[in-house]
Amino acid sequence: MGVISLWSILDEKDVGQRTNLRDLSGKRLAVDLSIWILELKRANNKLHDSANFFLKNLFYRILGFLKNGIQIVFAIDALHVPSLKMATFHKRRKESCGAEGGRCNDRSKFQIYVNKCVGLFDKFGIPYLTSSGEAEALCAKLNKNGLVDACLTGDGDVFCYGAKHVYRNLQKLKKEYYVDIYTTDSIQEKVCLDQRSFVVLALLCGCDYNKSGVKSIGHKKALSLLRNFQEKKIDPLDRMLGWRSNTELKNLQEIRTNTAKKDPHCYRCHHVGDLTAHDTTGCSSCTTNVGCTVNADADTCYCEWHQSERKLADFKEDLTKFKEELDVREKALMDCNFPNKEIIHEFLVDKNEEISLDKVCSSEPDVIGIVCYMLDKVRMDGVDIMRHLITALVHIWLISSPQNWHNLKLEPISILRESKENFRLCYEVKWKKLEVDTWTEEDYYTTHIERDLFKQHYSEMVKEFVSSQGQGKQVGFRKRKSDDNITNQTTIDSIFPKKKK
Ligand SMILES: [Zn+2]
Ligand SMILES: [Zn+2]
Ligand SMILES: [Zn+2]
Repeated sequence: MGVISLWSILDEKDVGQRTNLRDLSGKRLAVDLSIWILELKRANNKLHDSANFFLKNLFYRILGFLKNGIQIVFAIDALHVPSLKMATFHKRRKESCGAEGGRCNDRSKFQIYVNKCVGLFDKFGIPYLTSSGEAEALCAKLNKNGLVDACLTGDGDVFCYGAKHVYRNLQKLKKEYYVDIYTTDSIQEKVCLDQRSFVVLALLCGCDYNKSGVKSIGHKKALSLLRNFQEKKIDPLDRMLGWRSNTELKNLQEIRTNTAKKDPHCYRCHHVGDLTAHDTTGCSSCTTNVGCTVNADADTCYCEWHQSERKLADFKEDLTKFKEELDVREKALMDCNFPNKEIIHEFLVDKNEEISLDKVCSSEPDVIGIVCYMLDKVRMDGVDIMRHLITALVHIWLISSPQNWHNLKLEPISILRESKENFRLCYEVKWKKLEVDTWTEEDYYTTHIERDLFKQHYSEMVKEFVSSQGQGKQVGFRKRKSDDNITNQTTIDSIFPKKKK
């Protein structure tokens, strides 16, 4: 998807940096929703038949991001498929739904899945925006305007739309999520490509808007030409737009495609004509009326072929200098529509309206709403939903201290013990049960929180725990129990006044 070969170009030079999502804590990402839906549905098809099972995968994926303190804003494709993309759209449709799907001209079938996702985003308070065209165009715009730190998409077109930071290859390994990070800075440094070069690559190698690109021009030739332009400090896109009218290139092209036919030449003077004729009427190149000069200079022959040969020699330097460009130009211009201005316009002219910061900020999650939605759509177990949800919520609470949460209050009761999760030092923390929780049976939650993170907010509780540990080692079990009472007296009393059941 996107510019053909783009990812292999970047991966050949090790541009992508594998990064744990935890290390991206505090960032806001624009996520291309359709790619997520396709991925989640694919995972779904392998194991389950349920039409909504992808929602369960979506739920876990969202939690994975929230738990790492990452905010997401979803970008949704416009219902209407841009006419430029129609060919690709039909092809993909046919591949996924058979001939039947190939006839439809909009994304209404896909929209059913989008709507189900949006239902969940609303409950989570996760923002989503519908693009006026392609979702990746909107992702790039949000990124360019600084409203998000990066775009999460596998569609390389996003670089043509001007994205600065792109994450892709989201993978879950041993409970942790990883992505490959591509930044325009590292791309510039390692492969010397900028937005306009990406557009040129799309035109030459192909993209969603022109699947095949220029015939017999692969990414190696395209890249080499781009490098060539860069050395000459030429803007690659402007240059290609001017290819048809550039007289210098036009002339060079004519010179190098020498079509003149070589007529027979006299073997005495080496000029056009034959010995007998020269003997009787002379040779115009030798400027004689009768006979001709032995071994005259062939350079003085005025036949068409020799003139062309001389031109080739005169322009040898230029022809070498422009060879690469002339090769590509010649093939590209066989398509009378090259370079396709509609594609250039699509990539470089922003069609989305201006977006304000509040449109990409998360709002307060609706816990009851989330649980009910998941129970209703996927029939997950309520306890299971709460268990996962609480872990994510306490992490958002600790990492981003959201100011706009008015109903949801998370309150730690005590630290139960030191623990380790994925080799990281944590505390197992006991949290006050939410009033709205009618699903779990215990009167509290426990989660593992990284020690430093917890300490930033509840240093007193950590201090008490540490000192109790010191004493606990001497006094043992009894001390620990009494310690529990000291630290939690007030909170425990306030949680268990009337035990709901
Ligand atoms: Zn002659
Ligand atoms: Zn002659
Ligand atoms: Zn000649």
